[in-house]
Amino acid sequence: MSSILIVEDEFAIRNALAEFLAAAGHAVEALSSGMEGVQRAVQGGLDVVVLDLGLPDVDGSEVLKMIRAVSAVPVIVATARDDEAEIVRILKDGADDYVVKPFSGAQLQARIEAILRRAGSAEMAGPITIGQLEIDVDRRTAEMNGAPLDLTRKEFDLLAFLAGQVGVVASKRQLLAEVWRQPYGGADKTVDVHLSVLRRKLGETAAEPRYLRTVHGVGVKLVDPTS
Ligand code: CA
Repeated sequence: MSSILIVEDEFAIRNALAEFLAAAGHAVEALSSGMEGVQRAVQGGLDVVVLDLGLPDVDGSEVLKMIRAVSAVPVIVATARDDEAEIVRILKDGADDYVVKPFSGAQLQARIEAILRRAGSAEMAGPITIGQLEIDVDRRTAEMNGAPLDLTRKEFDLLAFLAGQVGVVASKRQLLAEVWRQPYGGADKTVDVHLSVLRRKLGETAAEPRYLRTVHGVGVKLVDPTS
């Protein structure tokens, strides 16, 4: 069973979605304001947040940024406007997917299932331990030998993504799509630069890698060097 939070101020929509998703077997919480939604997201334990953009207290795009500052929980944004510029902006701000109103419960359910499949089991089961590295996706913290790592948001996202598929190579294109939300990103050096900094923060070098293994011409993977 997955934990879904709906943040939607319109009573009828909120109730209809909550009922539909509950009937589909999810544990559903439904709130009517942006600030309540942020407060709930801070507590963690959610698998997906469905966030209405048009909220009465705080604009949904601001709510999204606040949630992103404290949590990596997948967010599906519900927008009333089929406005490509706005959709691109909210995806860049960290939304994982979007639905345009009016949408059906079935469409939302399908998008939630797709996100849960992508997230895999790693993000649901508390901290991930890989050798001496411990990553808490909900709290957005990482430790090496018990010492906190000082990571930027993207460095953390990159580490968490690789930790969610230990031993499996991710291509740079995949990382651009999954971590930077730029599925059509060009051949810039964003991924290389972040990998290089992350590697230094993990206490290793490209010449003597431990956790981060580059597979030339393919991509990079996270491995447990102690196993
Ligand atoms: Ca609304």
